[in-house]
Amino acid sequence: MASIQTVKGTVDSDQLGVILVHEHICLGGGLGRIPEKFETKAMDYQATLTRKAAEVGINTLVDLSPHPEVGKIMQLNEKVPQVNLILSTGAYLESRTPHAVRDLNEDAMIEHMIKDLSAGYDGFEDTGVKAGIIKVTSAGPQLTEWEKKNFRAAARVQQQLKVPIATHACAGAKAQMELLRQAGDNIAATFYSHVEAEFGWEGRSREDEARYLEDVTRAAGYLQFNNLDFEFDTPFEDMLYLINYFEGKGYGDNVFISIDANWTIEEDGRIWHEAEKEHPETGRRTYAYAITHAVPMLMSAGVSLQRISKYLVANPRRLFETFDEH
Ligand SMILES: [Zn+2]
Repeated sequence: MASIQTVKGTVDSDQLGVILVHEHICLGGGLGRIPEKFETKAMDYQATLTRKAAEVGINTLVDLSPHPEVGKIMQLNEKVPQVNLILSTGAYLESRTPHAVRDLNEDAMIEHMIKDLSAGYDGFEDTGVKAGIIKVTSAGPQLTEWEKKNFRAAARVQQQLKVPIATHACAGAKAQMELLRQAGDNIAATFYSHVEAEFGWEGRSREDEARYLEDVTRAAGYLQFNNLDFEFDTPFEDMLYLINYFEGKGYGDNVFISIDANWTIEEDGRIWHEAEKEHPETGRRTYAYAITHAVPMLMSAGVSLQRISKYLVANPRRLFETFDEH
């Protein structure tokens, strides 16, 4: 068992239950601005989504938006205390990173991450709210110098503080893995997100992509899948192929399922989930959708409940317990 940092303080890892490892709390912060006049509406919507998650049996949400609005998230936690909220530090895409973080050199980035993880977020040091995971991002198959710097910082902070790393890996998961391994000696507790996004496969077939990703699982990396009802990026059939491939190769312990639910409010007050304008079906991709839609979809395609529970409970719990197992 391990002690996990959440918004309400530390929680024992056996209390994490059903964990969605790659989600977003959309109350502003680095990922998107909320128009001031709709702040209450945003909070109400966020609280409703979180409450519905609890109602269908989700116990823990990991918010991989690295510059959280901590004060608002504390309010959310008060409204819906039954869900554990784990926050992140680090960086998303360079263009979406606030200047103060974007301009940090490697050593300053390390210091920034260590502070969020061990002393608390700026202005919230005395509340005890700290990050529980590091998020790093690369946009394309080759990492830019700015992205490499963040990955090296993440690897060094993981060595020092023994915390998990989550990456945004629509492309280049293996390149990310290799860079992390060069910079840190233990990258066991690391997962690579969105690896099923076919626009990032550099022309490889799904069979070749499976073999490419197998190098990541062989190095103890976890693969996170979320493109359900994202047929335009990943046909369901292909996602199923990959999940079954890794299970068949003995890497079923390295698979995570999450939703990556995220949304914005526009100036007219309308709420849009990611890709909803072009693909209305994505509007239903809330946290609760993991249980109400994703699980039945996988089960009707032959994935057993036992396997699904491994992807949603045991595997992510093991991620957070990695450094306590010895
Ligand atoms: Zn995300």
